[in-house]
Amino acid sequence: MGLKVAKFGGSSVADKIQLTKIRQIIESDSDRKYIVVSAPGKRYDGDSKITDLLYLCKTHMEHNLPYEQVFQVVCDRYTVLQLNLGVDTNLEEEFETIKKNLIAGASADYMASRGEYLNARIIAAFLGFDFVDTAGLVKFDQKGRFLEDETNEALAVELAKHEKAVLPGFYGSDEEGNIRTFSRGGSDITGALVARAMNADVYENWTDVSGFLIADPKIVKDSLPISSISYKELRELSYMGASVLHEDAIYPARVADIPINIRNTNKPDDPGTMITAEPVRDEKIITGIAGSRDFTVLAIYKNMMSSERGFVRKILGILEDYDISFEHLPSGIDTISVVMSNKSINGRLDEIMEDFEKQLQPDTMDVFENIALIATVGCGMSARPGTSAKLFGALAEAGVNIRMIDQGSSEMNIIVGVEGKDFETSIKAIYNAFVN
Ligand code: ASP
Repeated sequence: MGLKVAKFGGSSVADKIQLTKIRQIIESDSDRKYIVVSAPGKRYDGDSKITDLLYLCKTHMEHNLPYEQVFQVVCDRYTVLQLNLGVDTNLEEEFETIKKNLIAGASADYMASRGEYLNARIIAAFLGFDFVDTAGLVKFDQKGRFLEDETNEALAVELAKHEKAVLPGFYGSDEEGNIRTFSRGGSDITGALVARAMNADVYENWTDVSGFLIADPKIVKDSLPISSISYKELRELSYMGASVLHEDAIYPARVADIPINIRNTNKPDDPGTMITAEPVRDEKIITGIAGSRDFTVLAIYKNMMSSERGFVRKILGILEDYDISFEHLPSGIDTISVVMSNKSINGRLDEIMEDFEKQLQPDTMDVFENIALIATVGCGMSARPGTSAKLFGALAEAGVNIRMIDQGSSEMNIIVGVEGKDFETSIKAIYNAFVN
């Protein structure tokens, strides 16, 4: 018999309809022994996520605004859910405790965590599984930094006592017992931690899409899904904007060599995307395409730059002064381009350029604002002659002018910088060249 850890996201645990689906999923495979849940998410467009409402209660409290109505909406949602599911978990008492703590100045982390806590209690009762609180098991230090080894040990020891359990995602506690949360979307991390601690065969992450798509469906309608992807490829795609899974959820699964399977609660027969340590060697050349807009490129030209000692160090020094981490730094013999996100520039472009002028004394410096970066990622690209020719050919045919090219040394990705107006055209052209 195997062991699977299944994490269900906010939309998968939003109401009775969804919870009935997850019960079927869990009961259809007895290997699904440890279940991690998010707080209830949106049931329809315009609905509120419980986590947002709980943060709002805290904000109201801090600003001396009435919080009661918002809190009541939260309570009502759980009361109705519990009633619909026909379980009883002593909710009234829980609500009283949370309210008392809120009035006494409980932290935002504590308030937000109650979304997962209450939901996990109700779902445990609904499934007939044990409820195991992650406070005291998922450990943080006094500064709120996550403690990896201590958590692994504590989860393994506690869960060995439970054959089947439901755990709340998103939070843990520090040495003094204060509740601490991960960043938003952090239940994904808890799922990975539980999978690691129990040495699961697979970590299933159930959400509302059938895995990753090769390209953003808002740009490429009917994009095909990615059936398998390696951790490294995923990291490249996530960095460039593709998001389904919390970035920090990858590490715990990766160190324990546990594959992550992204699945769709609403289409449980879809195989979803399998994320594995090693890329699955198949026919595909590219695995995915992702990109984001709003970058600025400073193209610096200086005669004999290549023989000037410390030139790049000066560039990096200026960026450090402005607390900017560069995205890319493609260079030629006497040229170098500094690619920065507009967010990190934060309206300070003139000052930055002045410093570049003063310290680097370039012959010319051109600025290209409104640049979009597009990453084409795939282990299958390496050692396949003609891949970049195909990519650049597709962009040329679509009339796109490439402003910057950067190929990672692993040959796993090619990043191009294009003008913002060409962003969507470029992604479509690359998709059609490699996938269709
Ligand atoms: N409920 C938390 C959030 O909305 C954590 C999660 O769902 O993963 O961010």
